[in-house]
Amino acid sequence: MVFGNMGEDSATGVAFTRNPGNGENNFYGEFLVNAQGEDVVAGIRTPAPINDYSKNAQSKHLPTLEALMPEIYKQLDGYQKRLEVHYKDMQDIEFTIEKGKLYMLQCRVGKRNGIAAVRMATEMYKESLIDRETAIMRVGPNQLVELLLPMLDMKAEQAATPIAKGLPAGPGGAKGRVVFSTETAVEWASKGERVILVREETSPEDVDGMYMSQAILTSKGGMTSHAALVARGWGKCCIVGCGDIEIGIEHKFFKAKDGVTIHEGDWISLNGTRGLVYEGSLSLVDVDLDDNKSYKELMKLVDEVKILKVRTNADTPKDATQALRFGAEGIGLFRTEHMFYGEGSEEPLFLLRKMIVSKSETERRQALDDLFIYVKKDIKETMTIMDGHPVTIRLLDPPLHEFVPHDRAKLQLLSKELGISLNVLRKRVLALHENNPMLGHRGVRLGVSYPEITEMQIRAILEAACELTEAGKKVFPEIMIPVTCTVNELKHQRAIVDRVHAQVCDKVCKTKVDFAYGTMIEIPRAALKANHMAIEAEFFSFGTNDLTQMSFGFSRDDIGGFLPNYLDQKILRADPFQTLDQDGVGELIRIGIERGRSTRPNLKVGICGEHGGDAESVKFCHKLGMDYVSCSPFRVPIARLAAAQAAIEAKQ
Ligand code: PEP
Ligand code: MG
Repeated sequence: MVFGNMGEDSATGVAFTRNPGNGENNFYGEFLVNAQGEDVVAGIRTPAPINDYSKNAQSKHLPTLEALMPEIYKQLDGYQKRLEVHYKDMQDIEFTIEKGKLYMLQCRVGKRNGIAAVRMATEMYKESLIDRETAIMRVGPNQLVELLLPMLDMKAEQAATPIAKGLPAGPGGAKGRVVFSTETAVEWASKGERVILVREETSPEDVDGMYMSQAILTSKGGMTSHAALVARGWGKCCIVGCGDIEIGIEHKFFKAKDGVTIHEGDWISLNGTRGLVYEGSLSLVDVDLDDNKSYKELMKLVDEVKILKVRTNADTPKDATQALRFGAEGIGLFRTEHMFYGEGSEEPLFLLRKMIVSKSETERRQALDDLFIYVKKDIKETMTIMDGHPVTIRLLDPPLHEFVPHDRAKLQLLSKELGISLNVLRKRVLALHENNPMLGHRGVRLGVSYPEITEMQIRAILEAACELTEAGKKVFPEIMIPVTCTVNELKHQRAIVDRVHAQVCDKVCKTKVDFAYGTMIEIPRAALKANHMAIEAEFFSFGTNDLTQMSFGFSRDDIGGFLPNYLDQKILRADPFQTLDQDGVGELIRIGIERGRSTRPNLKVGICGEHGGDAESVKFCHKLGMDYVSCSPFRVPIARLAAAQAAIEAKQ
């Protein structure tokens, strides 16, 4: 046992061989003269910096270890360099100085946030300290989330004056209503409030409240305090050691240095990257990854190694643009129905409704002809943005009744616009009602009942592709039929596709437009009969949202009522809609791929359910020999990294 509290020639400290907050290759640490180790972590005294580099706003006036005990600092610096070269990773070092003699207590691989992990991995690779594979394995796919974290809008920040400054312990931006206790944080956050937990310091009893908060702000403590370590581990926005605020815990307020008083429930905003606290609710923006050199270098290594392709689920041209920036290699799922939601959808939605409530094929065809223009425009725009990358366009999937209004006022408006009586319209809408629409008249079943709906969509896809090809653009549409369970459905729809294709090639297009024809596999029967499905389908895309729903018999929309009990009682390990159930649903996928490729060896296989962006599930897809995963734009970098790690793990 050695003691750091034996007088002014004794001290204790914690240091990192590189900065765990941003990854910079600089020796970084804190120490306290005449103190024991727990005094540094407890955050009761403000620790001093070991060197000039480690100075911050709170500690800049304190003498450094380098200045106070230069010989000992030199010795410590020599050890830290040797330790990092020996262990080939950033080390977290604890040391004690007893009566002028340095003792190394322990060292271990240091925890770091995502930003630091990416920088350290790429820089250590460039320094030849580690190889490419090690660099890729060093970053947890979910750590990339931190690089994609929202930040405070720069303009809003420039226009505001910070009311306090503390230590930037957890990067990113956050805003929320101030709470002063873990109980209130949990209570308010459970009701959907965004909260920021403000404490003098935190302890393990605060973990629930910290978890539920958008961010954490403490008035005491250093970069190695409890709040800083926990928040860093989670990648949560956090400011510690904010001595500019004085907390009146009894009366639930804090007072900032310049006199501003913030009460419980008031909004504040934090810049965790710079340690700044603002009064009010500033807007948040997404970060610009283009500025992050280390991220780009890591992704270059990732792309050299990964085998699995990563596509995106994009429903709008805006999503497609975003996904390309994140490195998507195509669109794995373009849900056509999304053009009927949101901004600018009034006219196409009206035409769709007109089509839905039509009573004859002639009426329906008239509405479809009008709708065609919008569908073609949307598809053409998206294919233009994707610039030659494959685009999988799924035909209309949801049950039609989802698109018709049900309240009186909206029905009245529609009846007027359609020129039919409210009564007649009501009857037609009522006829669409289903007790279980998720298992009802949706997906390919719509195309079987109303072939003209398929026809219109195929014409829109092929004409768009044809016009782009003739304009010198590269396009590759993949036509995907949803919710199939038998190869006969695929044969039925293929006949329509071939007929329209011949018409388009004959009348519209001088060049022959190419496409691929495939299906989603989202019904267990389709997976089991995959050898038959692959006779018609040139590609499979596993729709694991529906496949999970139909394998478990859990309704996607109603799982909230019982899932918490299943998780609490450990009947299920995880929510199967988030993490792919590899044992059950995964087995169906394995069978589907095996049987599909037994008929068509070059069958292209992907996944487009939510699991396509979950790192564990991506690794599983790699093991099963899929060609690609497809996920939402923001999950693309995570999936790319997971795919590279899967390739490395498979070799090992
Ligand atoms: C799926 O079922 O996995 C899928 C991607 O389709 P959706 O979520 O649109 O039903
Ligand atoms: Mg589905």
